[in-house]
Amino acid sequence: MMVFKNADIYTMDHKNPHIADGYIRTENGVITAVGKMKDYQKKQDETERDMKGRILMPGMMTTHSHFYAQFVRGIMADLKPVTNWPQTLTRLWWRLDEKLMPEQNYYSAMLGMIEGVKAGTTLYFDHQASPGAIDGSLDLLEKAAREVGVRAALAYEVTDRGGSEGAKAGIHENVRFIKKMKQNTDDTVRGMFGLHAIYSVGEETLEACAKEGAAIDAGFHIHIAEGYEDVAECYRRYDESVVSRLLRAGILNDHSIAAHGVFVTEEEMELLRDCGVTVAYNAQSNTNSGVGIVPVVPMLNKGVHVALGGDGYSADMFRELSVACMLQRLKSGRPCEFTTEQTYQVAFDNPGRLAEKIFGRKTGVLKEGAYADFIAVDYDAPTPICADNFLGHMLAAFSGKVAMTVINGKVVCENGKCTFVDEEKIFAECRKQAEILWKSIGQE
Ligand SMILES: [Zn+2]
Repeated sequence: MMVFKNADIYTMDHKNPHIADGYIRTENGVITAVGKMKDYQKKQDETERDMKGRILMPGMMTTHSHFYAQFVRGIMADLKPVTNWPQTLTRLWWRLDEKLMPEQNYYSAMLGMIEGVKAGTTLYFDHQASPGAIDGSLDLLEKAAREVGVRAALAYEVTDRGGSEGAKAGIHENVRFIKKMKQNTDDTVRGMFGLHAIYSVGEETLEACAKEGAAIDAGFHIHIAEGYEDVAECYRRYDESVVSRLLRAGILNDHSIAAHGVFVTEEEMELLRDCGVTVAYNAQSNTNSGVGIVPVVPMLNKGVHVALGGDGYSADMFRELSVACMLQRLKSGRPCEFTTEQTYQVAFDNPGRLAEKIFGRKTGVLKEGAYADFIAVDYDAPTPICADNFLGHMLAAFSGKVAMTVINGKVVCENGKCTFVDEEKIFAECRKQAEILWKSIGQE
């Protein structure tokens, strides 16, 4: 048992949003009590951590990440300029992921996770791609997750771009890993069933994924309508929309993720709402790729479960949320767009709801029975702060101020240093592995 005491707690629980001088008790990875210090009594064999008045809040979550993409930072390889979305895939991502070897999959994941926990990100729904090293790739990500101490749902993206053998290997990796994780007694790592996108997955492979996934009650994780080419190809091949085709295949349900949705129609929004799928909104990545702005506010107004994602672009979900909010205001031309309630839904409620489906318990909220996934923030508010304006302070100032990250009741990062891993040693190896990878794609 561990207690985090003398904390200024913002719970994200509408019934009990703020405890000015409080404590959180954790046991076996779960919150067993959240209360006021005046009611606190130390129990026997209990370890105490004095938070000295720091803010405690739920950890940040990403419902769409790519650990494999981390070595693209500062890439020095001979890459032709990219002028549209399909070229971004063929000239950068698909050249890069095809060369990833097991060591690079592992170290790239370690980099993504270490930077994530330092930034206060506690939960990751990851989508892996390494066509040259498919078998066992999710085990390497699992190893990294356990070493750093993060909560993660891992999927391998099935695609037909490497022919039917590659697709079969991807399906096998998903099924094998999901089954393995179902037998695991701890609930920090889970498997999901990944598919790349409808334009890179043929009909036969799509049907095979749906069948294999349904047999093990898997949640799926797929990109939808990230570029307009996805929409056009779906109409050309099936004469129907992306969402409609994926629904008919059985890929979209209440424990699945559809990432992006830049080009979804009003009709598709209603289908997304009705099936209960989580739509991962990746504002910085969409901006960087120049694909467009996801119609998040219309989706939220219709009741679609939109949740924050990073798409491998950023591990700092505070910064991501700030851009997410600003883009919606830019798109609509209205400074009041993307309300406080919608910010809460996208950052906490909807990712937490998905976590409950995949891992079994709530997260994104500090209350009894939820996972003990939370962060301490070093923030001496220069203007009044309370439950009603907390998210305003958070959006403006919390990026870079995470003092402690707790996942499953364990302090995995404190004062900018990871607890369980030697990050200097790992980053030195990351630099080596990134260089090998860059050379391998530059020599083509
Ligand atoms: Zn993605």
